[in-house]
Amino acid sequence: MTTATPSTGQRPRVVIVGSGFGGLFAAQRLKKAPVDVTLIGKTTHHLFQPLLYQVATGILSEGEIAPPTREILKNQDNARVVLGEVTDIDLAAKTVTSTVLGRTTVHAYDELIVAAGAGQSYFGNDQFAEFAPGMKSIDDALELRGRIFGAFELAELATDPAEIDRLLTFVVVGAGPTGVEMAGQIAELARRTLRHDFRRIDPTSARVILLDAAPKVLPPFVDKLSQKAHKQLNEIGVEVQLGAMVTNVDADGIVVKDGDGHERRINAATKIWAAGVQASPLGKLLGEQSGAEVDRAGRISVQPDLSLPGHPEVHVVGDMMSLNRLPGVAQVAIQGGRFAAEAVAARVAGRPTKPEFHYFDKGSMATISRFHAVADTWKFQFGGFIAWVLWLVVHLMYQVGFKNRFSTVVHWAVSFLGRGRSQRVGTQQQVYGRLALEHLGPDFEVSKTGGKRHTGEPVDVTGRESA
Ligand SMILES: Cc1cc2nc3c(=O)[nH]c(=O)nc-3n(C[C@H](O)[C@H](O)[C@H](O)COP(=O)(O)OP(=O)(O)OC[C@H]3O[C@@H](n4cnc5c(N)ncnc54)[C@H](O)[C@@H]3O)c2cc1C
Repeated sequence: MTTATPSTGQRPRVVIVGSGFGGLFAAQRLKKAPVDVTLIGKTTHHLFQPLLYQVATGILSEGEIAPPTREILKNQDNARVVLGEVTDIDLAAKTVTSTVLGRTTVHAYDELIVAAGAGQSYFGNDQFAEFAPGMKSIDDALELRGRIFGAFELAELATDPAEIDRLLTFVVVGAGPTGVEMAGQIAELARRTLRHDFRRIDPTSARVILLDAAPKVLPPFVDKLSQKAHKQLNEIGVEVQLGAMVTNVDADGIVVKDGDGHERRINAATKIWAAGVQASPLGKLLGEQSGAEVDRAGRISVQPDLSLPGHPEVHVVGDMMSLNRLPGVAQVAIQGGRFAAEAVAARVAGRPTKPEFHYFDKGSMATISRFHAVADTWKFQFGGFIAWVLWLVVHLMYQVGFKNRFSTVVHWAVSFLGRGRSQRVGTQQQVYGRLALEHLGPDFEVSKTGGKRHTGEPVDVTGRESA
């Protein structure tokens, strides 16, 4: 059955695609505007991606970094949250089509903000995904958690030393902030948390390898901070291998080609892909209809005011847009989402809109291990404990909701002051569920929110056709 965005009268309808940083902050900025907001998300939560690696390594629970979008917006009367994967946007008809569990919905809009973010990119080698999951969603983090803790369990059972080595070797591909944070946490997990938990294996002997084709870790940071991070990684036992390009990944290991052209194999049961992003396919779809350029990473070029050429009523924000080489970071999405919402509010009120989006760069940070981070902010570049405290404060500030902040602080204390990790559950379904879903075939693929593809023609009952 098909339903549609209900119109509650004459108020302009604002449809927002995505409940990430761009979409959520745009919706919140419209709280006082005389509009009806429909926020469509393919998950029911707002995901705080920067802390995903802490879910994958057992520090935080998934609920702490993914509060329900519906709860966040429960006191915003002009906003409605709709679950669904947007599969089509028709710029001429001004409609957005979403689908969930075979139910297709057509939403009419007067103003549209698209903030569908980016997924993992395997640079044309999507077959790597089966053996080296990325880290973009709660599903990814839970699967990785199951694989990481599961590798120690299997090593405890194994008798062949080569097999034990393979199980206790963890390879993280991509030495950007996500890869550095992930490698650092696996090393601390092995050396601090698990050191007394096993009888036959020595978890502290686990090899954690961080590799990248780039010549330095944390490429976006200045050399001084990259070197600091590299040194700190070595101190906590992470092997950093640079100039190493991945050429193959399979169940038992990974093949890399070094700068001199020599190929070598690393036997490793757990491989984690933290390299490369590919913007939402909605960017391509919007590019085809508006003539806006779409780059190789799938990001769509937007006008200086984040709108699409010829479509002042459509804004694209966050990771899926390209403007002045802005980085794919949370602040670009947050500030872009708010800017787009203010433009919508101004247009609705008949006020002039700002011609240009100006990004205020608050700096970058990456944490390496407990008590160590690097920060490049307000012209100051520093590393160590102060940077780490700053990292904690900033990440707490942008988490949504007091409950989540409180329990995050408790879990951080357990893991960073103590040695514990409170979230060590890993289920078989978490580890194998993704592969099982893929085996359900392409019909299921198009609607990862669940269910087979809707086979009937969607019935448009938005009132548009009869208008
Ligand atoms: C592991 C990791 C660590 C990171 N660490 C940092 C960090 O430390 N600091 C930092 O600044 N940035 C960090 N980032 C980047 C930051 O999270 C992103 O730049 C930011 O989330 C972009 O916001 P967005 O709104 O564009 O996209 P997202 O936050 O990704 O939100 C996209 C939303 O759209 C939804 N969606 C996607 N497709 C559809 C569809 N077809 N239909 C409906 N809904 C859809 C998604 O479910 C999601 O809710 C990190 C990213 C990752 C993956």
